Amino acid sequence: MLAVIGLCAVSAFMLWQMRLDAARRSEVTSRSLVQVLGRDIARNIELYDLSLRAVVDGLKLPELAQADPELRQMILFDRAATAENFGHTLVFDRTGKLIISSKSLAPEPLNYADREYFQYHVAHPGNELHISQPLVSRLTGKRVLIISRRLSDPDGSFAGVVLGSIYLDYFRQLFAAVGADHAGTVTLYGPGGTIIMREPYDEATIGRSVSATDSYRRFFDAPEGRFTGPAMVGEGSRDFVFTKVGDLPLHLSIAVAPAEIYADWWHRALVLGAVVLSLCATTIVLTWLFGRELHQRRVAEQAALDLNVQLEKLATTDALTGLANRRRFDDALEREWRRAVRNQLPLSLLVLDADYFKGYNDRYGHQRGDEALRLIARSIEASIVNASDTACRIGGEEFAVILPETDAAGAEIVAHRIREAVAGWKIPHASSPLGVLTVSLGLAQIPDVRAADPAAFVEAADQALYAAKANGRNQVQVRRRDKAGLRLAAG
Ligand code: GH3
Ligand code: MG
Ligand code: MG
Repeated sequence: MLAVIGLCAVSAFMLWQMRLDAARRSEVTSRSLVQVLGRDIARNIELYDLSLRAVVDGLKLPELAQADPELRQMILFDRAATAENFGHTLVFDRTGKLIISSKSLAPEPLNYADREYFQYHVAHPGNELHISQPLVSRLTGKRVLIISRRLSDPDGSFAGVVLGSIYLDYFRQLFAAVGADHAGTVTLYGPGGTIIMREPYDEATIGRSVSATDSYRRFFDAPEGRFTGPAMVGEGSRDFVFTKVGDLPLHLSIAVAPAEIYADWWHRALVLGAVVLSLCATTIVLTWLFGRELHQRRVAEQAALDLNVQLEKLATTDALTGLANRRRFDDALEREWRRAVRNQLPLSLLVLDADYFKGYNDRYGHQRGDEALRLIARSIEASIVNASDTACRIGGEEFAVILPETDAAGAEIVAHRIREAVAGWKIPHASSPLGVLTVSLGLAQIPDVRAADPAAFVEAADQALYAAKANGRNQVQVRRRDKAGLRLAAG
């Protein structure tokens, strides 16, 4: 899981960096485009304006009025005025009548007094350059932008207008050349927020004013800059990069939609994301499969261990009574005997044998005999209290109890309890002089007896049992250390 989380974190970080890069790249591209285009437009208009100034200055020469029309044409209009992006350069008198045209020696007597730029110059005595809204030329029928200057008499009164026209196609071609490899929208705004040209080209938007939009208002705060704002044409938000065109009342902007900025990034992010996610999924699935395999193996091992424990228990348990069998008795006695000798702890051993049991079997049958043996086993189990005591069936109707860390007095109490428990059942035994089923018990105890090995210890307990049998049965005999032999204990 850590590896997967780490992989995802690193990928997310990388994607985030790539996203920032995409935004940065888009901004840098927009900035440089807007600057290059702005400079080109400013320079061309400046050049054309120089031609207009030359006309204004030339018209002040008194000799010009008498000059031959062809010579006048050469003096007034330089080569710039005949460049392909520029239309007619025209001169009007104070009434708005066309008097001189750069393209014709005898211009038609048209009147332009109704044009907005003409009225502007009538009303404004200044001598600054005026830029019109996009218009349709009366001479050529083409869309044009008119730049004009006022003609003044020496006393400053209005004497006419000189104008030049720039085909909007010039801007269209200029923008189309860059629009091809840039995803944004390039727009040129005229005075008052009128759209002069737009790439991708859309006829319907030319001449439309966007001065009321929030985004356009922000253009006036700075000569250039960038911001994110609502689209001026269309829906959604745009990243704007804008600049003022020279000192002219024109603005140029490139607006890019976020979807366009991040289009490439999205493509890469999807591919990378898919690869990383499938790697993560594969890792998780493999880890899960591996974990499940391990778990199944552990379960199988545990089952095998449990089975071993069960087999071990079966192999050391007496089937008839459920007590420990002879094998476990030998192991337990060996272990406890060693422990007692090593740690100098007391250890008691009790052996018991059913009285006149051959006779019981003969009279009541083997089946009833088995039941009686089970009853004796239950009586033994009920009489021992310590968990460390081991009750065993060591022969046909012979039993033994190993009592670790128990002295003779304690073991005797257990022995009497067993004897009383069996006799207490009062199971009829017609073949016994005692009339009921009884048991005899022999008890030996370390360190009272000095047994050299476990077998000698069992032998000592057996001797006590024989004494109990010889003394009339249904009683407990204890093997003492004293040389006098066995001391009789009360039955
Ligand atoms: P004593 O009082 O001297 O012990 O007399 P006894 O008849 O009990 O003599 P002994 O201990 O020699 O008898 C063993 C008898 O116990 C032999 C057999 O009939 C019976 N016996 C041994 N094992 C089993 C057993 O698993 N089931 C049954 N039902 N009887 C058994
Ligand atoms: Mg016996
Ligand atoms: Mg017996």
